[in-house]
Amino acid sequence: METTIFAWFKDSIHLYFADSSSQPGEQVMSASSGRFVIQKHQATHLHYDFRLELDSVLKSWAVPKELPTQPGIRRLAVQVEDHELSYIDFEGTIPKGEYGAGTVEIWDKGTYTLISRTDKIIEFTLDGSKLKGSYALVNFKDNNWLLIKKKS
Ligand code: MN
Repeated sequence: METTIFAWFKDSIHLYFADSSSQPGEQVMSASSGRFVIQKHQATHLHYDFRLELDSVLKSWAVPKELPTQPGIRRLAVQVEDHELSYIDFEGTIPKGEYGAGTVEIWDKGTYTLISRTDKIIEFTLDGSKLKGSYALVNFKDNNWLLIKKKS
């Protein structure tokens, strides 16, 4: 598993840098901003739900490990279904028998600034309590992304 992810990661990095040097017109540049939240979700498996306010919904990724605060660290982030904006403040218990049953607590929240966005790469800066600075989400296969902490 790790070996395969590493191979994907290498491909993604190539893609990432290839894209960085692509024609400026191909990227949608934006100075837009919004809110983000990271909900620590103790379900069947502990994970962290990373959600960005984008396109009037919460774009969401499930991250199996704590999110990176140091540059050079990357995490697998599996994109899951969009959530309604109102979910951004949710903390509490999801009852047994319901999807995601377990406890949810807000691990970090704040605002973000969108730097650039394509189908495959979303770059942004975070301004939260725990997470600050430059990050990138890089899609490498299906719903699988890498969340990368960059040097600010
Ligand atoms: Mn979850």
